[in-house]
Amino acid sequence: MKIAIAGGSIAGLACALTLTCKGHDVHVYERSAAPLRGRGGGVVVLRQMFHFLEQHGYPVRGMLSVPAHRRRWLDAEGSVIRDEPELLPFSSWDAVYRSLCSMLPSGAMHYGHTVASLAQDAEGVTIHFDEHAEPLRVDLLIAADGTGSRLRAMLFPASASSYAGYIAWRGVVEESAFERADIAELIENMTLLRADGALFMTFLIPALDGSLETGKRRFNWLWYRNETDAATLASFLTDREGRHHHASIAPGELSAHSLAHLQHAAAAHLPPALSQLVAATGAPFLQAIADVLSPSFAQGRVALVGDAACTLRPHTGSGTSKAADDAVSLAQALDTSTATPDVVRALADWATARRAAVEPLRLKGPRLAESFGLGSPS
Ligand SMILES: Cc1cc2nc3c(=O)[nH]c(=O)nc-3n(C[C@H](O)[C@H](O)[C@H](O)COP(=O)(O)OP(=O)(O)OC[C@H]3O[C@@H](n4cnc5c(N)ncnc54)[C@H](O)[C@@H]3O)c2cc1C
Repeated sequence: MKIAIAGGSIAGLACALTLTCKGHDVHVYERSAAPLRGRGGGVVVLRQMFHFLEQHGYPVRGMLSVPAHRRRWLDAEGSVIRDEPELLPFSSWDAVYRSLCSMLPSGAMHYGHTVASLAQDAEGVTIHFDEHAEPLRVDLLIAADGTGSRLRAMLFPASASSYAGYIAWRGVVEESAFERADIAELIENMTLLRADGALFMTFLIPALDGSLETGKRRFNWLWYRNETDAATLASFLTDREGRHHHASIAPGELSAHSLAHLQHAAAAHLPPALSQLVAATGAPFLQAIADVLSPSFAQGRVALVGDAACTLRPHTGSGTSKAADDAVSLAQALDTSTATPDVVRALADWATARRAAVEPLRLKGPRLAESFGLGSPS
């Protein structure tokens, strides 16, 4: 089949690869004019995706991880109050993104293509782009356009995201920015601090170029904080140019007011071992945590995957692995070797099964948040 994918981030690329493996002619249309870079922080390792790609002859070394060996909880003074052995393999968004990109067939990626509208009939889907007059005709369209999905809004106009009552300040900072002694306790551990309505966590991730070498890696940190005041939230979601954003501010785009607030809060509420990470971060960023669940993961010849289908709470550590699992299961459902002539039926069956499969993870997120004192109690 000729398949178009809207969105060239983790979910879109993962689908492009798994569907290519199954013999489909797949093209990815990404609104950004150039490859995405340095956008995310840490992600968990995509085991099922590794396995699938290895089975289809792809090397997956680029997605290797920095293992954390212990989960350690600090108190507000920086003393260790709980310390448990736990092997947590973390990779970075960049490492996963770059390695997925490198495995795509050449010519499959089309930057500067924003899917603007779609029209489907019994035979296929016609897509229009914001930047190009020429429409595209395909057998299937996959919406991998993220949590604020324009395609989901077109297919299911009544669906909306709901703010969970807390935000995540985030950052990535070089391991080499610190004296070894100052970060010794943070190396290869996952370090957490829980305070009233807030949770800080940090762990090492690979360097931007994928290196796992000591001194070249980076600390990923996240600081979840309850924020129920609408005006304060709106001010945090206003970037340095004064533009308002719905759900996030990208690295380097925080306003001077937000930066000052973050640095002040870190100095006031975090012990030096953790506040030093925030202070040394050149381009922190922000995400408002929201829940999104599409009423269905397919409609006719359009499938929804990744955050466009269902945005999980980040504490589940599974947004990326869920996107990869969406990709693997979708390729299996559309396997050309077991080709069903009724692709709409195959998509509908996949959508029902997939939505049921993610339900436990979706419900786990708010429960975890509540246990950390984050968000509004359900
Ligand atoms: C605070 C926070 C922490 C997280 N931590 C983790 C973690 O530790 N581990 C983990 O596994 N996951 C984590 N996640 C989740 C993870 O980042 C995502 O679930 C995962 O990357 C899947 O994203 P996606 O590809 O579906 O969407 P996105 O990454 O949002 O990508 C959507 C893409 O679509 C493009 N696009 C949008 N509209 C259009 C259009 N109309 N036409 C063409 N292109 C379009 C965008 O430019 C973008 O490239 C976290 C999320 C948050 C908010």
